[in-house]
Amino acid sequence: MNNVHYTGEFNEAWKKESEIKSRWSNLVFCFAFMLGYPVTSVVYLIKNNPAFFGILKAELIFSALVAVVLAFYYLNKITAQRAAFLTYLLLVPVHAYILATVPHATYDRATFNMTLGLIFIMLVVRWPAIYAFIVTGLVFLFFPTALYWGHPSYFYQFLAQGGLFFFMGHLLFPVIILFTGRRDKREFFYRYTLAEQNEILEKQKEVAESATRAKSEFLSTMSHEIRTPLNGIVGIVHLLEENQSREEEEKELIETLKFSSTHLMSVVNDILDFNKINSNHVKLQPILFNPELLFRNLYNSFVLKAREKKLDLIFETVTLPQLLVDQVRLSQIITNLVHNAIKFTDEGFVKFSVKEVSRNTELIKLEFSVTDSGIGISNEQQETVFEIFTQVRSMVKRHDGGTGLGLAISKELVRLFGGELKLESVFGKGSTFSFEIELPYTEKVAEVKPPAELINTQIRDDARVLVVDDNAINLLFATRLLQQKEIAYDTASDGQQAVEMHSANHYNLIFMDLRMPVMDGFEATRQIRGKDKDIQIVALTASAFEDERERALSNGFDGYLVKPFLPADFYEIVYSCVGVN
Ligand code: ADP
Repeated sequence: MNNVHYTGEFNEAWKKESEIKSRWSNLVFCFAFMLGYPVTSVVYLIKNNPAFFGILKAELIFSALVAVVLAFYYLNKITAQRAAFLTYLLLVPVHAYILATVPHATYDRATFNMTLGLIFIMLVVRWPAIYAFIVTGLVFLFFPTALYWGHPSYFYQFLAQGGLFFFMGHLLFPVIILFTGRRDKREFFYRYTLAEQNEILEKQKEVAESATRAKSEFLSTMSHEIRTPLNGIVGIVHLLEENQSREEEEKELIETLKFSSTHLMSVVNDILDFNKINSNHVKLQPILFNPELLFRNLYNSFVLKAREKKLDLIFETVTLPQLLVDQVRLSQIITNLVHNAIKFTDEGFVKFSVKEVSRNTELIKLEFSVTDSGIGISNEQQETVFEIFTQVRSMVKRHDGGTGLGLAISKELVRLFGGELKLESVFGKGSTFSFEIELPYTEKVAEVKPPAELINTQIRDDARVLVVDDNAINLLFATRLLQQKEIAYDTASDGQQAVEMHSANHYNLIFMDLRMPVMDGFEATRQIRGKDKDIQIVALTASAFEDERERALSNGFDGYLVKPFLPADFYEIVYSCVGVN
């Protein structure tokens, strides 16, 4: 482990760590000798050894000095390691004094006790190796000298009766302290550098996460800001289109404008959608529905486009029970895939298929796949098509250009459903996108409600709608849509006005913008609700951040319409509120 490089900073950290780690054991060493050493003199007392008083005196002086050392430790003047070291330094001359002055009949017992003491010391103390070398040096200097000075025969007797073993043991002492110290230091080094690396990685992760967050917030804010004026543009283009008495050239310009604004709207909506799903802000809202009806609707919505391109559109589905799924999100995935398949196929077929993989009493596992005989996607492009804003360069004229977000959104949505969107493709031959998901189902046949617009063909005579929005263009768009169906309406440009108008008139339905000057939509709705429990109030918002849908629904609103909205969605709400069944 010589390649381990300890820096000065690390050495400082290690010093602190090793002091903390060894504090208790070093203190145990100090206390054990301070209290235990004088007790050993009792043995001399029992044996009536005349040296008893001398020994007791020496040992009490030793204990008193150790007490001073400990006092220094508790006054934070020295470390516990230093206290233990000083204790040993004091022990050596006192012990040498005893060896020199007390004649022993035999040394067996003394050397045995000293060796036990040494083993205890080796187990307990944790020092810098230099301390251990110093005390060992002192032991080798003092003990033999003291014995020899007492009488040369003491020295040889001591060596012969276990002293040699004690000296050899003491020789090992600094080596053991050195190696255990190194091992502890190395282990600490790994933990220390690991912690350091973790800290760095943690910081990098935070930077990356906050960058991603900033990016997605930026996209959301931008899209949100763009959406409000865009709502006006899309609305006005729809209105311009209604006017039939235009010249061809003008109609073409309007057509182009409509295409561009609708496209821009789908890009903006896709970005918002992707960000929302990607940041886990979308919760699936399962409802019970008949999958066959969904597939039939999907087929109907694509069959014309496929026919236009002379493609065979094949829907291969099996008989399925009622599913409990977020139908809107499921059809969004299928629509994206079929839409792409038709877009990137010039001849042949596009096939949508649903297969049952397995089922238990509650869940059914289905495999959805969309296969086409189109241009295919090369191997290296397959790796990136699911990333946002990826559009494989192709020879296809991109006049109905996509946003490059469809697959990224679909992939995220499939992930929300608990599956994985997979792609198999041979360049030039065609592609298959597929995913397997497990869905709750029931065999019970649920009543299928046709869309509102189909059943409501007439408007109630007393129908009157109030549109509340501070944006004049939004107001214009909504009211023109109402005009076209000859529905009576009023407008208000803030919440305060709305409350007043509601008191003065009778309305069946209120479209309420949420953010307005003077009084916002939440407050206005609260006040209106206080007086009128039955009125239908639908929130209008362009919000991209909070899940305002839930906030609106739990604050007295009956429904929710995200701007920019399409006429069909607007009418669906209007008809369901003021239509006659
Ligand atoms: P776009 O809005 O451009 O269609 P998508 O995320 O849906 O964005 O698709 C990304 C790219 O993947 C497309 O531009 C196209 O190059 C490629 N792609 C997607 N589906 C198919 C397909 N069925 N066949 C060939 N290429 C496809």
